[in-house]
Amino acid sequence: MQVAKVICRITLATICVSLFATASVSARAYDPAIEELVRKHEFDAAAAKGKQLFESQENDPLNWLDYAMLLESIGRREEARNIYLEFIQRFPGDQHVAYARGIVAKLEKDLDWFPQEADQKLSADDSYLVQTIIFSTLGKWPKSKMPIKVAVRVDGASQVPQKFLALSRECPAVWQRASNNAVTFKIVEGNTPADLDIVWTSNSNRREVCDRQAGTHVDLQMQTGAINHATIYVLTKSHMSGGLLLDTSARRIVLHEIGHALGLWHSKDPDDIMYYGGMHINLGVLTARDVALINKYYSRDITDLSQLAIDACKKVTSDHDSRLFPQLYLQQGLACNRKHNYKQSIECYKNAINVLLQSNKHRNEDLIFNYFDLGDAYMTMNQYKEAEVNFRKAAELSRAENGQPNLTRIEEFLFYCQIENKQYQDAEKLGQALILRLAKAGQLSDMADQIYVLGTLYHAQEKYPQALASYKQARAVFDKLHINSVNANECRKQCATLKP
Ligand SMILES: [Zn+2]
Repeated sequence: MQVAKVICRITLATICVSLFATASVSARAYDPAIEELVRKHEFDAAAAKGKQLFESQENDPLNWLDYAMLLESIGRREEARNIYLEFIQRFPGDQHVAYARGIVAKLEKDLDWFPQEADQKLSADDSYLVQTIIFSTLGKWPKSKMPIKVAVRVDGASQVPQKFLALSRECPAVWQRASNNAVTFKIVEGNTPADLDIVWTSNSNRREVCDRQAGTHVDLQMQTGAINHATIYVLTKSHMSGGLLLDTSARRIVLHEIGHALGLWHSKDPDDIMYYGGMHINLGVLTARDVALINKYYSRDITDLSQLAIDACKKVTSDHDSRLFPQLYLQQGLACNRKHNYKQSIECYKNAINVLLQSNKHRNEDLIFNYFDLGDAYMTMNQYKEAEVNFRKAAELSRAENGQPNLTRIEEFLFYCQIENKQYQDAEKLGQALILRLAKAGQLSDMADQIYVLGTLYHAQEKYPQALASYKQARAVFDKLHINSVNANECRKQCATLKP
């Protein structure tokens, strides 16, 4: 018999979607000499001068933040993280602790996925591409969304200077020109619904900006990578000084966040609009590199772009102990999935697994994600034997991690494959355990799905009374929760037609 597609195909949150990107603003006036050195890309000299200044006023908490930001802005992310951490320890009551924690969290993830040593060996162009592939959602605005409707809004009763609103309305056109009209925008007024909302707030406690200057939330359809909507929040004032942003900062931040809303990530070159770091010398203009990347991103296939990123990294490092390559392959696999090129995504996940197994320090979590996605790709191609093997590996590793990251989801897929592979005894045992666990966790809708699948298992074995009993049990839950999914409707149909 044909079992209806059972599971809503949400992966295990394979890619770590970083919903909020940050753009910090320099705390206080730096020593202009340091800024000049950064402008000239003389980073070592800037660091030396910054260190001197820092050591002369160690009791001033803001001084710590200034120094950390300087280090961050010149790519010394490890040292920056350590300074932020020490700041948090030394000044636990300081009002900027939450802000510093936010940055530490971001830095930790950056360092974990994209080691500083590798980044330092990459050209600025390659680093920019690699960051975009690793950290972004790899989403794009589809052609059907053009022109992207943009609204510039004020959050509640926030005090927002008119000039900030006015300059925000000019920013989308800058990206439009840069992209050679691959992305187009239209500003809408009043309460007209928009695709991209740029919201200015003066409330520094607002969740979206409490630990950062600005944030962009991208809402996309995971399966296709099509961006539906994005919201940008920008704080009107500097977290550090509390003073109103300069016009150039405001413009730079809005342009930067729109870059994220379009799918781009960070550049390591302080000249670029998508540069991230404490010291900002960009005055609100896109550089040739920004222009090149947005054009590449919208004209080329993400799978190819991932390959370019992988090739660039291979040239500078063979380090398998970092998460760099697995992450790149994982993202490439996702891009292949979105094109329904499952054969190629299988190769990507296999590459990721090979790299992980070669590493001495790999994390089980990464292996689990890859085995799961590999199984999922096989399942999509109806290769249930191969799918089962990989789901089984994912499940075994997950059990060793106390069921993390999502043993239940893995077992649901394994259960489904075992039925397809006619491993009825194993499947029955697994299904019953799964149903029990879902019941205990109160996940009733998922539980009903699995009871229904158990029914199909009995059904396939021609155990009609048991099949009917399961279908009825599942239907009762579907009805109670008013669920009208494919499974629920199929279940109702079976209840009506199956004779015990
Ligand atoms: Zn950013």
